[in-house]
Amino acid sequence: MDDRQFRNAMGKFATGVNVITTEVDGNIHGMTANAFMSVSLDPKLVVISIGKNASMLEKIRKSKKYAVNILSHDQKELSMIFAGQIKEDRDISFERLADLPVIEGANTQISCEVVNEHIEGDHSLFIGKVIGIKLEECSNPLLFYKGQYTSIERAKSAV
Ligand code: FAD
Ligand code: NAD
Repeated sequence: MDDRQFRNAMGKFATGVNVITTEVDGNIHGMTANAFMSVSLDPKLVVISIGKNASMLEKIRKSKKYAVNILSHDQKELSMIFAGQIKEDRDISFERLADLPVIEGANTQISCEVVNEHIEGDHSLFIGKVIGIKLEECSNPLLFYKGQYTSIERAKSAV
């Protein structure tokens, strides 16, 4: 099986888009990620999956904390910035939630403490215990499907 076939198959699973944020020695780092799942209600746990070559990996190992910022439909540009798809330097302003930097205007912000790391293949799964949540009530999410950004409105009009 080749990589493209695997990615095409995984791309058929429509997801939201997150920016994972963390902070080490006062330096904030962000990375776009769609590998995210709710794990447990009691205790409240989530999981993210970070590639072995991502600079985010060592940063989370050091900080032992991360935030998941579920992006709104109008934040595609932020997703592209934090995926390295837009290369120019941008000055991005962050808010704080439970002592972590979070993205202003995100659909939902979730702050976590790392309780476990599982290395699986070429990714590390970080289990996070949820320590803070802020919900933006009236925003639609940014979506990712078949390697393309979309939104609920665009998906509806395509039906
Ligand atoms: P870099 O490539 O160094 O940083 C990413 C970009 O963010 C750089 O352009 C940098 O300038 C910018 N940036 C970081 N911090 C700041 C800041 N404070 N202010 C301004 N700009 C900043 N990879 C995974 O491992 N797991 C996933 O689940 C995943 N899902 C993805 C989903 C989508 C839709 C896309 C498009 C990509 C996904 N990726 C995922 C790939 C990942 O986003 C890229 O490989 C990313 O470039 C890796 O980031 P990095 O930590 O290595 O940092
Ligand atoms: P794509 O067609 O590569 O992605 C479709 C799906 O494949 C993704 O939603 C994800 O589920 C899976 N996938 C892609 N790359 C993966 C990887 N390295 N490891 C595990 N699963 C992966 O879409 P695209 O627009 O070409 O993606 C843009 C870039 O972002 C690519 O470089 C891609 O590798 C990367 N990306 C990485 C992950 C990840 O590491 N989990 C997820 C999404 C995108």
